[in-house]
Amino acid sequence: MIRAVVPGAAGKMGGMLIQAIRSDAAVALHAAVERKGHAAVGTEAEPGVTIGDDFARALHGADVYIDFTAPEATGTLVAQAAARRVAAVIGTTGLSPEARTAIFHAAADIPVVVAPNFSLGVNLLLGLAEEAARALGPEYDVEVVEIHHRHKRDAPSGTAIALAEALARGRDADLAQVKRFSREGDVGARADGEIGVQAVRGGDVVGEHTVLFLGPAERIELAHRAGSRLIFARGAVRAAAWVAGKPAGVYSMKDVLGL
Ligand code: NAD
Repeated sequence: MIRAVVPGAAGKMGGMLIQAIRSDAAVALHAAVERKGHAAVGTEAEPGVTIGDDFARALHGADVYIDFTAPEATGTLVAQAAARRVAAVIGTTGLSPEARTAIFHAAADIPVVVAPNFSLGVNLLLGLAEEAARALGPEYDVEVVEIHHRHKRDAPSGTAIALAEALARGRDADLAQVKRFSREGDVGARADGEIGVQAVRGGDVVGEHTVLFLGPAERIELAHRAGSRLIFARGAVRAAAWVAGKPAGVYSMKDVLGL
């Protein structure tokens, strides 16, 4: 049995992770943690597991932890896990360059799965988008449109950025040179080769991503719509079972799913 720690246990994804672990035969909830001062500290995450506020202590005897918290927490959490040789699954998005560096350093000592999206469907979509971009070529303008609930902090979504990267790979382009993440004012005609990403926010939308290929007299759309956060939680728990015991290094959901 893989013993997993869940920081951010009182968050939207934290609750889903605990639910997904409960129905997974291979993974058990070892400890649940929240940030210091959170109202949920001291309450039960599930019978027999009280939410604590000491992440380092929670890691004792654990195999893996699953981080869906906040960008400012991720770097500290992964450094603590590396020091205790506990594997990591990281789903938090909007990560700063500093947090990415902390993950890179930690991956010298522990295996880490990082993914902006843990759903099977989106990971399939990443491959389809790359393939379509390669097949259609630069004559087709590409845009990614994403919609998320009104509480989402980062924009565009980590998944939309991953889709833009996949499209750039399909075209042998450097995303930094061709990305257009917003438009306003007298922006002029669309530049050749541009990869656009637009973010819509509102309501309680769990997550929608559409890739548009806009060509002469035709349009292709590849879309994914998440109906429940449980799909991300199930994927992350699957990643946790997969990553425990792997050699140190950074892995993606593609590795986990064998895509
Ligand atoms: P949320 O705000 O509902 O929950 C985050 C929780 O983390 C909060 O309860 C907060 O108190 C806690 N937290 C913050 N700092 C902490 C720390 N240092 N130690 C312990 N707990 C801490 O947010 P959410 O909707 O659950 O999303 C969390 C993150 O997961 C976001 O970055 C979101 O974009 C991302 N996300 C990723 C995927 C994916 O598939 N990769 C899917 C959904 C959400």
